[in-house]
Formats: sequence, structure tokens, C-alpha cells
Amino acid sequence: MSTSRRTFLTGLAAAGSFAIASPAVLGQAKPRVVVIGGGAGGATAARYIAKDSNGAIAVTLVEENEVYQTCFHSNLFIGGFKSYDEISHRYDALAKNHGITLARARATQIDRDKKEAVLSTGDRLPYDRLVVSPGIDLKYDSVPGWSKEAEEAMPHGWKPGRQTQLIRQKLDAVPNGGTIVMIAPPNPYRCPPGPYERASMFAHLLKASGRRDCKILILDPKDSFSKQGVFQEGWEKHYGAMIEWLGPKVHDGIKSVDPKTNTVVTGFETYKDCAFVNVIPAQMAGEIARSAGLAPAGGYCTIDAASMKSAVDPNIFVLGDACIAGDMPKSAFAANSQAKVAAMVIRGELTNARTFPARYINTCWSLIETDDTIKVGGRYEAKDGKIAATETFVSQPRESAELRKENQAENVGWYAAITADMFS
Ligand SMILES: Cc1cc2nc3c(=O)[nH]c(=O)nc-3n(C[C@H](O)[C@H](O)[C@H](O)COP(=O)(O)OP(=O)(O)OC[C@H]3O[C@@H](n4cnc5c(N)ncnc54)[C@H](O)[C@@H]3O)c2cc1C
Repeated sequence: MSTSRRTFLTGLAAAGSFAIASPAVLGQAKPRVVVIGGGAGGATAARYIAKDSNGAIAVTLVEENEVYQTCFHSNLFIGGFKSYDEISHRYDALAKNHGITLARARATQIDRDKKEAVLSTGDRLPYDRLVVSPGIDLKYDSVPGWSKEAEEAMPHGWKPGRQTQLIRQKLDAVPNGGTIVMIAPPNPYRCPPGPYERASMFAHLLKASGRRDCKILILDPKDSFSKQGVFQEGWEKHYGAMIEWLGPKVHDGIKSVDPKTNTVVTGFETYKDCAFVNVIPAQMAGEIARSAGLAPAGGYCTIDAASMKSAVDPNIFVLGDACIAGDMPKSAFAANSQAKVAAMVIRGELTNARTFPARYINTCWSLIETDDTIKVGGRYEAKDGKIAATETFVSQPRESAELRKENQAENVGWYAAITADMFS
């Protein structure tokens, strides 16, 4: 008998001691895990549950898109450091290599009483454990005058795919001397350093293409932002006065935008005929998590820090941007790390595999200019009911060019590693 089979049977023998009814109790052949969302959290969770249980758990991944474009490194695409193909990934190898069933559909409902995920195809997928990692939805009403209809004229680029390409097209069309206005999002949002790396990539491409008289204005609802000191030092060094950051005390709030005329009105100023306006609105957990009642707190889902279980349903795990992860930011690295904890706990519950205390890790790299990359990150544990940082680090001003170049090599290596961890 194989080790995995033995482990599985041992799991069944011990199942009676579980607080939640396990498949053995239900007399079922294989426990079933359904994962909603094939992104940084969901694809990783599906892969680790299937791979590490050696086929003892039946895993179905529900994902509405055939191809996943990473938001991470989408700024590098916008800046011309990566092609669109390089940030696009398919699910075929993941499914084939680990025996994962792919359901190409949108999950429209979670029936928590029946423990079933309902799909846009009409199928109902029964589960013993459900992993929910749908990412974010945008709050279209958080910027007055902006709307779903306006996202073509004033793109956000905060969800991948066409929006990322639109940002690049708008950037390519900016004339020399033109003004780009970026409206940054309020906390908490996906990728805290993301808007500021994006502004850097705007400046890089404009400068590299001889459009040195352009201006990039960042109108921020926040008083400060991630890695602010090192970003601003880098902007001054590489781009002079091209990028200007204005906090709420300086602009007195975004009063309205007009997508027809590319106008932005703040408390103190009206910016007319902008070459391009990038609206990054406020955010919340993806719709499926909210409609299932998993997000009682401010649009994001509360979880148990030691397991990534939903605080409102012990059969459901919520990962990534959709959850409130304490000191961890909303990043792909964080979602990937949380997925491994959830996968371990799920295998423990369903096959009696050994579990360990939850440990999380994150680093967010940001490219300011060629080979000038800064980073922020930490290690985390469950403490006092939340995911708490036990160790943190952040890039410092006046670091050597060698160190910044090493950071970029780490960044490139990380992207290769995480996409292999999700899709291979
Ligand atoms: C510009 C930008 C730059 C970034 N840079 C970095 C970076 O350098 N490093 C980093 O770590 N992170 C970065 N991030 C953040 C990172 O992209 C997210 O934190 C990460 O993708 C979150 O993973 P997730 O699993 O929560 O959601 P996602 O990766 O968004 O995955 C969610 C998936 O669920 C699917 N889905 C949603 N609802 C349903 C449904 N009902 N049915 C079926 N499928 C559904 C979606 O199609 C999607 O594929 C960046 C983000 C942006 C916007």
C-alpha cells in the first residue's frame, strides 16, 4: 500500500475526533475540495492540496478566465520591461500535472447549508472544504463622476487583462508636455506600493521615449504611502520634477472627475484636458465572497489567523486580497503564503496529515528605474487573534546601486518562482 493511501486511511480512522464532519463520517470515497478563483491564492491552494495529498483529495478549481494575466509585474509590462505574453499564464499544466479538475465558469453562489458551489453553467459542486480567493472588486462609486462605463476613458488597470493593456495604450498616446493624473486608492487596497511603482513606470517610458516634459500628478487620499521616502528619493534622482505626489492636505480631496473631458476637480484645483487619467478606486472583496456573507467587516472577509478559515464558516477558507490578513498586505506573495497554510490545514482535516503552526512571509519589490528596485516585507504568525508581523524590513534611502540591482534580480527570480508555484 502506498504511503499516501496509508496516510489517507489513517486519516479516516481518526476522523471521528474532528470537530467538523469529515468525509469518513459521510462514508464518501474521496474528500472534495472546491477552490473558487485561480489567482495567486486559489491556484496555489489547489496545487498544494492536490500535490501534497497525492490524489487522496479530489480538487476542483473554478476559474472564469482561460488565461490569467498577473497584476504583479503588470507595471513592468506598462514600463516596457516585460511583454504581455510574459505576464499571461494558462491552467493546463496545473490541471494535468496534479489531477485537478478545471471548471471554466463563474461561481455565482455558495450554498453554505448544502455545502455546494453553484456555477454559471448551472452545475452544483459539493464540497467538504471550500477555498475562496476571488481577489477584489472595485468600488465604482468611490470617485465622484467615475463609473463602470467610465473605465474605458479613465482606466484603473487594477484588475488584469484588457485594463492593463488600456493603460499602456493611453500612456503610449500621451504627447510630450502632457499631464497624467493618477488618483490613488484609499486603504486597504491590493498592492500598497503598486500605484507608486506604476507612476515610476509611466515616467520611465516617457523619459525613454523622449517625452521629458510630461508631468505625472498623483492625487492621494492618504497622508502617506508604502516606501514613500525611497520612492520620492528615486523619483527625484531619475526623473527630476516629472512625478509629483499630492496628499489630501495639499489637494483638499477629489471632488469629481469628468471622463468626457478628462477633467479632475480637487478642493483647490481643476485639472483640465489631462492627457490621461488613471483612476484607482477604493476596493472590496470579490463579489462571491461578499454574497456568501463572508465579508461582514467593511467589505473584506474576517479569517482565523492560525488557519485562514473564514471566521463565519469553518468549512470555508478565504485567501488573498479578499481577506483581512492583519499586518500582511494584499499581495500575490501574501496570497501564495496564505494558500500554503490553508492547504496544510485542509490536508490535516481531510486526510489527517501532520500540521504545523502557521507561518507567513511576504516581500513586495518595486522597480523605480532600470536596476533600481526597492523592497518591503516581513515574516508573520498568528498572535492575539490576528496575523502579526514578527520581523519586518524596508529599503533605506541612499542604498548602493549594487544592492538595488540585487533587489531587481530577486524580483525577477520571485516572479519565476511564484508563477511556477501557481501554474506548473
Ligand atoms: C498594478 C499591480 C501590481 C502588483 N504588483 C505586485 C507585486 O509586485 N507583488 C505582489 O506580491 N503582488 C502584487 N500585486 C498584487 C497581486 O496581484 C494581488 O495581491 C494578488 O493577485 C491577489 O491574489 P488573489 O488570489 O487574492 O486574487 P487574484 O490573483 O486576483 O485571483 C482571483 C481570481 O479569481 C477569479 N474569480 C473571481 N471571482 C470569481 C468567481 N465568482 N468565479 C470564478 N472565478 C472567479 C478571477 O478571474 C481571478 O483569476 C499587484 C497588483 C497590481 C494591481
